[in-house]
Amino acid sequence: MLDSLGTDLSRGLSSREIPLKKKLFGENQLKEFRTTPPLAIFLNQFKDTITLVLLGATLISAYLGEIADAVAITAIVILNGIMGFVQEYRTEKSLQALREMTAPTARVLRDGKITVIPARDVVPGDVVILESGDIVPADGELFEAENLKIDESVLTGESVPVEKSAESRDQEGLKIHRSNLVFMGTMVVSGRGKMLVTQIGMGTEMGKIAGMIEEIEEEQTPLQKRLDHLGKQLVVICLAICVIVALLGVIRGENLYDMFLFGVSLAVAAIPEGLPAVVTMVLTLGVQRMVKKNVLIRKLTAVETLGCATVICSDKTGTLTENKMTVRKIYVDDGILTVTGSGYRLEGDFVTQDGRLLRDLPHGLKKLLEISVSCNNAELTEPKAGLLGKFLKSREVIPSGDPTEAALLVAAAKANILKSDVEKAYRRIKEIPFDSERKCMSVLVKSRRGELFLFTKGAVDVVLGLCDGIEVNGKLKEITDADKKKIIEINEDMGREALRVLAFAYKKVNLAQTSDTNLERNLIFVGLIGMIDPPRPEAKVAVEKCFSAGIRPVMITGDHRATALAVARELNITSEGGKILTGQELDDMSETDFLNCVDDVSVYARVTPKHKLRIVRALKKKGHVVAMTGDGVNDAPAVKEADIGISMGRNGTDVTKEASAMILMDDNFASIVAAVEEGRIIYDNIRKFIRYLLSCNTGEVLTMLWASLLGLPIPLLPIQVLWMNLMTDGLPAIALGADPPEKDVMSRKPRQKNESIFSRGMGRRIFYRGFLISLATIAAYLISNHYGHGDLSFARTVAFCTLIVSQLIFSFECRSESAAVWEQNPFSNLYLTLAVVCSAAMLFGVVYIPELQAIFRTVPLNEEVWLLILALAGLGAVL
Ligand code: ATP
Repeated sequence: MLDSLGTDLSRGLSSREIPLKKKLFGENQLKEFRTTPPLAIFLNQFKDTITLVLLGATLISAYLGEIADAVAITAIVILNGIMGFVQEYRTEKSLQALREMTAPTARVLRDGKITVIPARDVVPGDVVILESGDIVPADGELFEAENLKIDESVLTGESVPVEKSAESRDQEGLKIHRSNLVFMGTMVVSGRGKMLVTQIGMGTEMGKIAGMIEEIEEEQTPLQKRLDHLGKQLVVICLAICVIVALLGVIRGENLYDMFLFGVSLAVAAIPEGLPAVVTMVLTLGVQRMVKKNVLIRKLTAVETLGCATVICSDKTGTLTENKMTVRKIYVDDGILTVTGSGYRLEGDFVTQDGRLLRDLPHGLKKLLEISVSCNNAELTEPKAGLLGKFLKSREVIPSGDPTEAALLVAAAKANILKSDVEKAYRRIKEIPFDSERKCMSVLVKSRRGELFLFTKGAVDVVLGLCDGIEVNGKLKEITDADKKKIIEINEDMGREALRVLAFAYKKVNLAQTSDTNLERNLIFVGLIGMIDPPRPEAKVAVEKCFSAGIRPVMITGDHRATALAVARELNITSEGGKILTGQELDDMSETDFLNCVDDVSVYARVTPKHKLRIVRALKKKGHVVAMTGDGVNDAPAVKEADIGISMGRNGTDVTKEASAMILMDDNFASIVAAVEEGRIIYDNIRKFIRYLLSCNTGEVLTMLWASLLGLPIPLLPIQVLWMNLMTDGLPAIALGADPPEKDVMSRKPRQKNESIFSRGMGRRIFYRGFLISLATIAAYLISNHYGHGDLSFARTVAFCTLIVSQLIFSFECRSESAAVWEQNPFSNLYLTLAVVCSAAMLFGVVYIPELQAIFRTVPLNEEVWLLILALAGLGAVL
């Protein structure tokens, strides 16, 4: 079948046509992401006022004849700029890479195969498959639609989902409501469909109003905002001190211009202007590390909040369990059968309770398996068997689609009931899709004899509620309360064995009933199928980690109470007698009662997505910082409400991904815990370099202040101040940002969400250590002045070296808030060791290379002096 755009609707576009189409129509996006060109990033490094003043002052120096000084200062400023540029460029690059990774995708039909491609690569003529939870990637026309409902509120403001069909029906005469048209950016709420793309990018309805949509700015994290604010306060304090120091110098009779240059240099060195940039860099580096642990961060804020998480609410299926289901037990014709075999291998038998192998398929079992195969959207494909595979007759298949449904196909295949045969025997006419609110799914089928049947499968309690008949050994009868009680008991027994149980039912439908909107009733119960979904072994370890880190894991599942409890017990999420709530119990509970018990409940069973929202809200009300996972389209509100919304990379929907702050690429609970750990490490490292930078700057400023108050000549010349800034502020600070974690990261309690960066004694410690650095430097200056008989160059060189060595020693102290320098392995952060060696080499260069001595006005020092410097600098680390 070909359409007007030349697309074969059954095969989609051919990949050969794509490059030309892309050339013709461009990318399918509303706006190009603005990336800052490297030159602009470089020039940005020089735009802050104080650096400009310094460059201005340098020009004056040059004019006054101090050419060497001017060249040296300019060179240092440029070197500083290069360092800032490298940091910022790397950050920009990794943010860009992240944007690429989290970009939306679309499922298109190309060359007859369904492929997932970035949504921006969709071209006109593409066939896009739409399913519940998808965000429509472009504008187009539907040519297939099954119960398709789309939320078009982004375009129309109307939040009630619009029903769509493959035929064009004008609704209310509005183009936007034409029932066969779908639009970019709208959300598929339920059903499925296929569309032919007609417009992309700016040509779409969304594109027409794109001008009205603000480009989303990368929002600053709370920490970045606070540091920005702090930075502004520090600028004022530093400037005030620099002015005082410079003025006192002038009063003492120093040259006005020299003092001005000194004041400005000190301001450049002391103002931690690079702080927000380093924070952003550390956050983005952390985000990159998280990618390696299968976590994609969509919002930087999440990185910070992760470290504060006190509760992690997780889905069960696929996140805590492997989502590799195997049918184990079947209840049919009032008897229980065990199914042997494992995973997706097609070998297996049906064994009766008395240990007999079933050779011939009883009528009831055949019917049950046929229903389970017909009411099913999964597929099994046989892998291309290699020589060895053929020889071994290995019959392991590759499943696609919902693992619950795939498990049913595998079980039926063990009885030689194959999907291809069942589809011929029962042609599907219509589907009432599964959704986690209804907890069941039905298909209307037509048999070879032309009879219509409704096949239903779903949660036992739900399906049982729809049944008024039961079929046992081929005989139909009315279902009694006793039958229901027995079925419920068997369901509970299977649940206690951690089996996920589905019930199956059917009914004959006459033609008149087919348009009945409430078709799922008066069903005939056929049987139960219980499947095992083993817990992930790594989830057990992760749960243990959570407890030792003061975080409570909570399981929220749509599954039955008994199954949920069995899995939770196996993973140690709850203990014997642990409190468990079902969705029904939650509905019957008042808000106050729920708030009173929410802290004790670790397992929620048979819940729907709307319960998830209530649970998040209650936990937040109790002061918790909540991480919450979600996959289905209805989970989006709860994921959005959570402090850290988590969506699933493999089985998640676009809508939930869009609402989430992070995506689990492997859908694995253990990855959430790894992300929390990483979040804590990142925050620790931010604290480490803030402690380092601010203590050092305090030390520098106080040294100058003491010297002025004591009426001494300035201890460091402007050029020395700038060189020191380059050596100490740059590399060691960045290296601290990449420090390996301390041992106790996951054995301490989560930090408070609104905790100030200076809390837990940090502010006091910064000031105290800065004070000690300044005392050591002033002492070195005074002693060398005394023994150097007033040789100012010598005294300044000693003060310069003491100030730098103090800071380099201190950089190692900053690696831990609890352990002293000598308790740490100095080589466990090789970056820091390298940074310190580099800085020390730069210091020796300035002190011993004659050409540099001339520029930096230094003199060579002997061993005894170095011993004095080391003693004074090291004293601060001991006190
Ligand atoms: P979790 O929320 O932990 O992922 P879950 O996968 O069991 O758990 P849902 O997908 O909401 O949660 O399923 C709820 C119930 O609906 C299941 O316990 C099962 O009884 C039933 N169910 C699940 N999948 C299907 C399906 N494909 N068809 C019919 N019923 C299903």
